[in-house]
Amino acid sequence: MRRPFIAGNWKMYKTNREAEKTVQDLKDKLKEVKSVDVMIAPPYTALSLAAGITDGSNIYLGAQNVHYENEGAYTGEISPPMLVSAGCQYVIIGHSERRQYFGCTDKDVNLRLKSAVTAGLKPVVCIGEKLEERESGKTFEVLSAQLSGSLKNLSEEEKNVLIVAYEPVWAIGTGKTATPDMAEEAHKYIRGKLADMYGRPFASGVRILYGGSVKPDNIKDLMAQDNIDGALVGGASLDADSFSQIVKF
Ligand code: PEP
Repeated sequence: MRRPFIAGNWKMYKTNREAEKTVQDLKDKLKEVKSVDVMIAPPYTALSLAAGITDGSNIYLGAQNVHYENEGAYTGEISPPMLVSAGCQYVIIGHSERRQYFGCTDKDVNLRLKSAVTAGLKPVVCIGEKLEERESGKTFEVLSAQLSGSLKNLSEEEKNVLIVAYEPVWAIGTGKTATPDMAEEAHKYIRGKLADMYGRPFASGVRILYGGSVKPDNIKDLMAQDNIDGALVGGASLDADSFSQIVKF
């Protein structure tokens, strides 16, 4: 019922020349894939170039962040209509690196999500606990607060296009993956909380991705869990071979 969604977050990696090669390789390797939605999020500088290659293919294009204003004196920021004009269909919002290093709050996530959807983008909203929060037994409390704040007052239109990514901060870029059971426990909690917020029909249809050191050798076990609908992949998405193996789990 929930179509798998595998996304690659390239973070601050790849010049345009490198990006061009990777996107072209991915397009070739993934051309037969029909049962999975695939999205890549290159750096802003490579978006238009990537759009030229992915156009008409089965690979969607996303950005790694977005501002909530459409334009203005916000040096260094990028707006939703700008991302649409660069060829994006998706945008990652509230990634833990944005929260940790750039002060992105749940309120910011909510504003960005709303502006993104107004412009026609589909948001992938990230949540996840830090190591000390997990170790002190606060995982569900943290996830609950992030969901309440980030996904506050969503309209039907916003809910229809929303994707949630559970990314435990301690598993991102560390090589430590949550075990499939640990991830499933969190995903189940998230779906339950979404049911409390917006009702069971919505919660049972929304896709929840897992992110945190996903690799070709652990994707199958993660995807076998009832409440895991896909993956947000960082490091392993930089290489066309490993990302396409993940997509073809
Ligand atoms: C990410 O950047 O969202 C991520 C999950 O990174 P990694 O796969 O490298 O842990």
